[in-house]
Amino acid sequence: MNVLIVYAHPYPASFNAAMKDRAVDVLLKAGHEVKVSDLYAMKFKAALDQDDFPDPCSRSFFSIPNEMMAGFVRGKLAPDVMAEIAKVKWADMLLFQFPIWWSSMPAILKGWFDRVFVQGFVVDLPNGMIYADGLLKGKKAMISTTMGSSADLYTEDGPHGDLNLHLKSLWHNTFEFCGMEVVPSFYVFNAGEMEEFQVEAELDRWEEYLLSVA
Ligand SMILES: Cc1cc2nc3c(=O)[nH]c(=O)nc-3n(C[C@H](O)[C@H](O)[C@H](O)COP(=O)(O)OP(=O)(O)OC[C@H]3O[C@@H](n4cnc5c(N)ncnc54)[C@H](O)[C@@H]3O)c2cc1C
Repeated sequence: MNVLIVYAHPYPASFNAAMKDRAVDVLLKAGHEVKVSDLYAMKFKAALDQDDFPDPCSRSFFSIPNEMMAGFVRGKLAPDVMAEIAKVKWADMLLFQFPIWWSSMPAILKGWFDRVFVQGFVVDLPNGMIYADGLLKGKKAMISTTMGSSADLYTEDGPHGDLNLHLKSLWHNTFEFCGMEVVPSFYVFNAGEMEEFQVEAELDRWEEYLLSVA
């Protein structure tokens, strides 16, 4: 299987980096092909703006969905976007590794979806090709994330509410919307302060889980 890891953490010595590195090791040893998009290392531009469409076709009214579709079909989107699209095409499974920030994903990762998941590539809205007919049908997608809070704070009745619902915009309104099969998420709670033995235990739990789904 071809696995694309989209990784969003600014520090190479972080726990999220260790999770990404463990995933690369485990997947390669299991015989999979792996590519990593390390968004901070790439200095990936988070904001979708007019520079994403270097050769726009609209002259009077600038329609972003239309420019996305036209740019994708003509291969004329910004080079960094076209490069990420090529990786997504290559992948059988997309694995997103990131820390929870404000009960969501870091802005750089949100920007990756805004810019890379262009209409015409992931969905075809005019022709109703979404969800079961989404254009990324046949691919799998998975969230692997860490948070400072304990699990009991992120339950349905807890003060933060159900974490799965916070992330629904990603696993349902993005992955499933585009036709992908969702692999159940992997969560590490209490990840802000850990002793080395806890880090090792969580990395081993991650390895075991990954091998069970990949
Ligand atoms: C802007 C912002 C918003 C946030 N919002 C939320 C929120 O809404 N909800 C929530 O629950 N949390 C929130 N947090 C906390 C955040 O989710 C955690 O800080 C994060 O998940 C921890 O992951 P990390 O990779 O940054 O860990 P790190 O800080 O890199 O490491 C965590 C611990 O593991 C140790 N460690 C890391 N790597 C290793 C290693 N290789 N070997 C040995 N020890 C290691 C470190 O010493 C540290 O004790 C927020 C943080 C920020 C900055």
